[in-house]
Amino acid sequence: MNIETHHNQSLPPSKPEAGLYLIATPIGNLRDITLRALDVLKAADALACEDTRHTNRLLSAYGIKSKLYTYNDHTPPSARRMLVDKVIGGGVVGVVSDAGTPLVSDPGQKLVQEVLAAGGKVFSVPGPSAAISALVSSGIDASRFFFQGFLPAKTGQRIQTLKSLKSFSEVSLVFYESPKRLAKTLHDMAEVLGGAREAVVMRELTKLHEEAVRGTLVELHTQYSKEDKVRGEIVIVVAPLAVEKEEVSIDDLDGAILQAMKTMSVKDLSEVLSETFDMPKKEIYARALKIRG
Ligand code: SAM
Repeated sequence: MNIETHHNQSLPPSKPEAGLYLIATPIGNLRDITLRALDVLKAADALACEDTRHTNRLLSAYGIKSKLYTYNDHTPPSARRMLVDKVIGGGVVGVVSDAGTPLVSDPGQKLVQEVLAAGGKVFSVPGPSAAISALVSSGIDASRFFFQGFLPAKTGQRIQTLKSLKSFSEVSLVFYESPKRLAKTLHDMAEVLGGAREAVVMRELTKLHEEAVRGTLVELHTQYSKEDKVRGEIVIVVAPLAVEKEEVSIDDLDGAILQAMKTMSVKDLSEVLSETFDMPKKEIYARALKIRG
């Protein structure tokens, strides 16, 4: 077993401890950056970026100059090794993607694994991620969720992946999607996950034209297949499958009322049974008075 202890302090150290730092950056609104992210971006000996031009724009907005290296899924192993060696040699190496949290549908996984395998430390500098921002503001149950990220672009594979998610019917599902595939994906989701399932299409989070469109998967598909050109960045949040309410039989209700009357007032039993039968108190009260005659 390998136990790591990190001594994080709330005040910025003059130079962060050597390690690989996964730095979250804004997903739209440039002010969504933490003080610690700025500290580490400034102090880094090297920044591994998905796109150096993109990161340069972010850094210049904060007057930061750092040494940038392109790093993505296609980076050759030798370039990755160079970054690992920097960490092992006592350097501070930051990882930033174009937006949000590195490794969340973004590059960085191999780098993290290789730094750990070489005995280096890995730290998270937390901040925005479109998945969490969409989930928490969607209004859909955020207590349990499954993050899929992007579905495969090919229809057959996309449907297979959706089928594999069908059994996750009790949790919310979070997907990233490109605007040009949105209508197709909503169509396949309605087919596989069920057209009546509620969902929200969250577009352009934290940006000027931020928008949330709610409906069933069928309604959302109808809406977006009419739209000529959907733009912007998109997260789809699908709600857990609604549990069908059991039909309450009037005999069951009357039986429960009669039983409860033996020990409770009509007012009290209306309160208790309204929860049990998921019915308005008023209705139970009226029924109880009728039974009492
Ligand atoms: N690592 C990023 C994160 O933590 O959110 C995600 C990177 S992934 C390559 C990019 C996708 O994230 C976009 O295609 C979109 O689905 C989603 N996304 C990023 N920013 C967004 C925003 N402002 N509004 C809605 N979705 C966004």
